[in-house]
Amino acid sequence: MQGGTADKISYSSLREYLGILSGAFFVSRTKIDYFEENIKMKLNNIDFATYFNNYPDKNGYFGKYGGVFVEDKLKRAMAEITEAYYSICQSRKFIAELRRIRKEFQGRPTPVTHLERLSDAMGGKVQLYAKREDLNHSGAHKLNHCMGEALLAKFMGKKKVIAETGAGQHGVALATAAAYFGLKCDIYMGAVDIKKQAPNVARMKILGANVIEVTHGLQTLKEAVDAAFDAYSREYEDAIYCIGSVLGPHPFPMMVRDFQSVVGIEAREQFIDMTGHLPSAIVACVGGGSNAAGLFAGFLNDPVDIYGIEPLGRGEKLGDHAASLKYGTEGIMHGFNSIMLKDENGDPAPVYSVASGLDYPSSGPEHAFLQEIGRVKYDVINDEETIDAFYRLARLEGIIPAIESSHAVAYGMKLAQKMDHGSVLINLSGRGDKDMDYIIENYGIR
Ligand SMILES: *Cc1c(COP(=O)(O)O)cnc(C)c1O
Repeated sequence: MQGGTADKISYSSLREYLGILSGAFFVSRTKIDYFEENIKMKLNNIDFATYFNNYPDKNGYFGKYGGVFVEDKLKRAMAEITEAYYSICQSRKFIAELRRIRKEFQGRPTPVTHLERLSDAMGGKVQLYAKREDLNHSGAHKLNHCMGEALLAKFMGKKKVIAETGAGQHGVALATAAAYFGLKCDIYMGAVDIKKQAPNVARMKILGANVIEVTHGLQTLKEAVDAAFDAYSREYEDAIYCIGSVLGPHPFPMMVRDFQSVVGIEAREQFIDMTGHLPSAIVACVGGGSNAAGLFAGFLNDPVDIYGIEPLGRGEKLGDHAASLKYGTEGIMHGFNSIMLKDENGDPAPVYSVASGLDYPSSGPEHAFLQEIGRVKYDVINDEETIDAFYRLARLEGIIPAIESSHAVAYGMKLAQKMDHGSVLINLSGRGDKDMDYIIENYGIR
C-alpha cells in the first residue's frame, strides 16, 4: 500500500515525532526548541525523554497494564491493525493527509484561551487557561482519533468501521469520520441508551450510520461492546473496529493516544507562545482517558504537575461514582488489563456520573501506569462541584462546557484557589450544547 522505509518520516525528538504523527501544528519553533533541550524528567527509573519509545512495549504493555486479552481470531485482527499502524501511520502520505484534514476539516489548531475573569473570580493569584477542544469539529476531542482511525481504515482498504457507543458521542464522531471518507458505519447501541440519547441517534442516522439496537442483558454500553466485538470477529476482513477511547486491546490505547496527542502538542506550543513559559499544572477529565492522554502526552517530559480528574458523582459508595483509578483494583475487561471497579463477583461494577461520557468502570492502561509510577495524580470532583463549574465558565467566560469537561474546570478552579502563583491549563474536551436540557431540567438555571 505505501512505500518502504524511504517513505518514513524523520524527526529530531520524540515529542516532535508524536507531533508529526498526530497531525499537530508547530507554532513557535525557536522557543519550543529551547524548552526541549533544557528539560529532562525522570521518575522511578523512567526517562520521559524516551517514554514514547518504550510505552507501550511491543506487546502493548504499560508496565503490567494493557495487553491483548481477546479470542485468537481477534488476536490476528489486532496484530494486523498494529502492523498497519506502524507501517501506514508513519508514512509521509498518511501524515500529509492527516494534517490536511486536521486543518481543513476539523478546524485545527484549536485555540488556547486565557480565562481571565474566571481567574480573577478565584482570587487572581493563579491564571487559568483552556485548550478549546469544544471548537474542534463536531464539538469535542473525539473526532481527533476517529479521523485517524477512519483514515487508517481507508489506507488498509477496509470498507466499513464498527463501534459501540453508550451516550452516543463516540458514535456521532465516528459517523462523522465515516461520512467524510465514504466508509460504511455500524454503531452498536443498547436499546436503553437509544431511548435516552435520541438526539445523538438522530445525528448518527443523518450522517448515514447504521445504528444497531442491542436488546440483551441490561441493554446498555457493556452489551453494546460485546455485540460490536462479536460483529467485528465476523467481519474483520472488510471492517475495522474503532474504539472510542484509550481502551481495549493493543494497539488501541497506543493508537488513540497518539492521535489525541495533537491536543497536548498543540497546547504546549501555544501556551509557550502566549506566555513564554510552561504551565505550572495541567488538568483533564478522565473517563476512558483519551482527552487526558492526549493532553498529557505533550507535557510528560516537562516539570509540570499533571492531574487526571475522575467523577465522584453522588459520593464514595460503589455505584455512586465512576472513579475507577481512585477506588478500583487490577483486573481484565474488554480485552485489556487495567484498574477497574468490580462488584462482589469480580465483574465490572455499576457506575454513575452526571456526565454520561465519564461513566465507565475502568480507565485506559496507560493511566493505571502513570498513576502507579506517580507521574500523574488522579483526583475526583463530584456532581455538585461540576455543575457549579459549568455555570461559572458559562457566566464568566461565555463558554458552555460539556459536563465531562466541567469536572476538569472545577478542579482547575480548586487549584487556582490553593496555589500561591502560577498557571493552570485545563483541557476543555467538549462543548455543552448536548447537556443543556439535562442541566436545566435537573439543576435549573442558576
Ligand atoms: C467522551 C467524552 C469524554 C470522556 O472520554 P475520554 O476518553 O476520557 O476523554 C470527555 N469529554 C467529552 C466532551 C466527551 O465527549
